[in-house]
Amino acid sequence: MRREIDSVWEQCLRVIQANVPDQSFKTWFEPIVPLRLNGKTLTIQVPSQFFYEWLEENYIHILRRALDTSIGRDGMLEYSIIVDAGTDRQGPIKVNVPTSNSPYAAAAKPQQRPDDFKKNTSHTPPKDQDSLALDSYLNPNYKFDNYIEGDCNRLARSAGHAVAQRPGITSFNPLLIYGGVGLGKTHLVQAIGNEIKGKHNNKFVLYVSSEKFTNQFINAIKSNTLQDFTDFYMKIDTLILDDVQFLSGKEKTQDTFFHIFNHLHQSGRQIIMTSDRRPADLQGLQDRLLSRFKWGLTADLQTPDLETRIAIIQRKLQTEGVNIDYGVIEYVAHSVNTNVRELEGVIISLMAQASLVRREIDLELTKSVLKNIVTSHDREVNMDTIQEMIADYFDVSISDLKSKSRKKELVYPRQMAMYFAKELTPLPLKSIGYHFGGRDHSTVIHAIQTINDLITQDEVVNEAVQKLRSNFGR
Ligand code: ADP
Ligand code: MG
Repeated sequence: MRREIDSVWEQCLRVIQANVPDQSFKTWFEPIVPLRLNGKTLTIQVPSQFFYEWLEENYIHILRRALDTSIGRDGMLEYSIIVDAGTDRQGPIKVNVPTSNSPYAAAAKPQQRPDDFKKNTSHTPPKDQDSLALDSYLNPNYKFDNYIEGDCNRLARSAGHAVAQRPGITSFNPLLIYGGVGLGKTHLVQAIGNEIKGKHNNKFVLYVSSEKFTNQFINAIKSNTLQDFTDFYMKIDTLILDDVQFLSGKEKTQDTFFHIFNHLHQSGRQIIMTSDRRPADLQGLQDRLLSRFKWGLTADLQTPDLETRIAIIQRKLQTEGVNIDYGVIEYVAHSVNTNVRELEGVIISLMAQASLVRREIDLELTKSVLKNIVTSHDREVNMDTIQEMIADYFDVSISDLKSKSRKKELVYPRQMAMYFAKELTPLPLKSIGYHFGGRDHSTVIHAIQTINDLITQDEVVNEAVQKLRSNFGR
């Protein structure tokens, strides 16, 4: 008679096989031995700590689903780990496999796991547990298609494209892409990875941030599974290591990466890396690694120019199915010239804002959204510039603004100046009062309230506020 556990495990495997690529199934699930079924608790045996951690990190949701199907929602999973590839086993590790789509495996980490994997950086793409892309840690949304070409990225993009067609074969090995934050490094290298996967589905592509690589390495040392760690990385056909500057000063991690690098390179596998600075400025990276980087191609990403920014915005809006005036697009492109991530942030806020207040994205809405976002590189607005600008606009003097006079023609400009001081500077009300002839904070509050009321009641005031705001560059 068949054991119950065998049929339960067979059911699990069916669910898993339907949800992960063949290669991953072979690598990660075939070696598992179902050990026992104790009530609703299934114990499986895995070959190493590293193996267990990889499963936990990458396949927790698939495992959960498999358990749901084979045992039921209260099914539990235990791991038994073979220590030292022999017979010597350590006690099973009990884990709670989350029952819903809980944020990535956090709940499933057993106590004794060090603080690894948690500090996943924002560079790691969102993990879609249901997607085949999960396996390579590639975000399927990062494609060449939606990577807008411009002077700023032409070399990097076309080198990346060449590598994607013939991984490991071009002389661009390794390919190192460098550039400042938010300029599209991760997008580009992931696009390469996705393209390789799409073209050669037998190739094992892996995207990993350097931070995660380091954490895995540290963990492997702690759990005495360094061999598994390196074996695993040496199996990869295309290794994408993001933000390699993170390895700075981490000598041991660099040593191991050096060996992995050499092995992969010698056997014609593709290595792709990114860095936030030029290799020459990568202090804390061993010379022998840096010299390896020179074997291939180093290409930089620059801040996109105006046309490219416009194209990026248009593309983004098109993807979201949103239509806005060219004038507005131009305005945004002119206002945000730091990096693409910030540009995207503005567009997302705009769309959110437009849907919140149910109105079209027009110039006015755009300006008010930008006012809240674009702060880092604004020209500085301080109390002096505010008082100067207001005095000029209302044709009064700065000392009038600070005077005790309660004449109507002075009170209004003064209130307006206080209103903008509150809006445009980080000063507390008390300090604002101080700058206006030593008034107290309740006077400032009253001024702000008065202007706020007038804005809604009096079109002239409203227009003046808009005009002034744009004069202040907001
Ligand atoms: P980095 O890794 O250099 O910090 P990312 O690759 O994360 O930057 O890019 C930030 C955001 O900008 C991403 O959402 C990315 O899709 C987008 N992006 C960057 N460059 C481009 C481009 N040339 N075309 C379209 N989107 C881009
Ligand atoms: Mg990145």
